[in-house]
Amino acid sequence: MNEQTVDILIVGGGLAGSLLAWQCIQQGKKIHLIFDPKIPSASKVAAGIINPVTGQRLVLQNNANTLLNTCKSCYQSLEERFNTTFYFEKPMRRYLRHHKEESAWKKRQNDPNYTDYLEPTGNPKIILQHHTAYLDTQALLNCLHHEFKHQSMLEHATVQFDDIDIHASHIRWRHITAQRIIFCEGWRGQNNPWFRYLPFQPAKGEILDLKTSSISPEHIINCGRWLLATDDGRLRLGATYHVQQPLDELISPQAKDTLLTDLKDMPISLEDIEVVQQQAGIRPTTLDKQPFLGFHPKHHALGIFNGFGSKGSMLIPYYTQVFIEHVEQQKALPKSVDIQRFTCA
Ligand SMILES: Cc1cc2nc3c(=O)[nH]c(=O)nc-3n(C[C@H](O)[C@H](O)[C@H](O)COP(=O)(O)OP(=O)(O)OC[C@H]3O[C@@H](n4cnc5c(N)ncnc54)[C@H](O)[C@@H]3O)c2cc1C
Repeated sequence: MNEQTVDILIVGGGLAGSLLAWQCIQQGKKIHLIFDPKIPSASKVAAGIINPVTGQRLVLQNNANTLLNTCKSCYQSLEERFNTTFYFEKPMRRYLRHHKEESAWKKRQNDPNYTDYLEPTGNPKIILQHHTAYLDTQALLNCLHHEFKHQSMLEHATVQFDDIDIHASHIRWRHITAQRIIFCEGWRGQNNPWFRYLPFQPAKGEILDLKTSSISPEHIINCGRWLLATDDGRLRLGATYHVQQPLDELISPQAKDTLLTDLKDMPISLEDIEVVQQQAGIRPTTLDKQPFLGFHPKHHALGIFNGFGSKGSMLIPYYTQVFIEHVEQQKALPKSVDIQRFTCA
């Protein structure tokens, strides 16, 4: 391999590492992206649903408007660049399942912050949600990786931590010298020797792709579980959520049963259901449900861009901008995502 000097070495080719790499290139930075395609990536499994109002209490994401505008313009500019559609707007029909959700909805109906997002349907147990969408994450990553490869910026390798030499102003990994290394390893960040002091709380999830002879729903259906008919003809059902350790990335008959049982309770009747694919992955969730952004308190050339949990497709475009402004213009990171909120032992 040729000796190379770059501005930023990025570890991880999921949505976080790949979008960060792309935005750095747009800023004129020289980058090198490394990931091991044999190491599973949550981004390959994700349904890519973008939903700013979540949970039983129907909580609106902080800063939702900015996040949504940023992700929409990011994905649309990538669509123009690659002449492919990745971002699909799709309203959601949310079915309230119990008293807690119904009383949350009663409160939200009188809250002007929610008017734009939640619309009554005439049925007190059904809400129509706006500003929801899904990202075809896999198609986007294929295009980005192809482009990085074309520009000789992509290398498939497993990064072993012992291979990284840390200096005050740069790092060295094998044939690469970089001013900074940014780790975007998804949930495996919890094993990174420099960042394992951060409270990760990875959550396994499983998802099914179905076939049916019935007409698929035009909205995203949400009744705790969700059902999403994609524009390329898939009908996706998900997702389970488990934080109990030990976690693995294997599909399980239990998750399949759970999802299919819950499908029967959904207010939609589908004939001749067949499971065509089952996938499992681990979300890079964190204990305080906020991302991890920043640089190691002692080794300033080591950075982390991780912890996007269940919301990578909505959060990552905005936080790539925030992170790059921090690196380039020394703008302070928002306290809620800055890793300085934790003490490094
Ligand atoms: C079942 C399921 C459903 C989901 N649904 C949604 C959804 O609908 N909407 C949504 O927004 N999010 C969803 N998510 C969450 C979403 O997947 C994540 O938020 C996002 O993909 C995280 O991206 P990431 O790049 O941080 O991590 P990952 O995609 O896991 O990427 C990590 C990368 O690091 C690489 N790597 C790790 N260690 C090394 C190493 N030592 N050397 C080299 N490479 C390494 C891996 O190969 C991979 O490329 C879902 C997740 C799951 C599991």
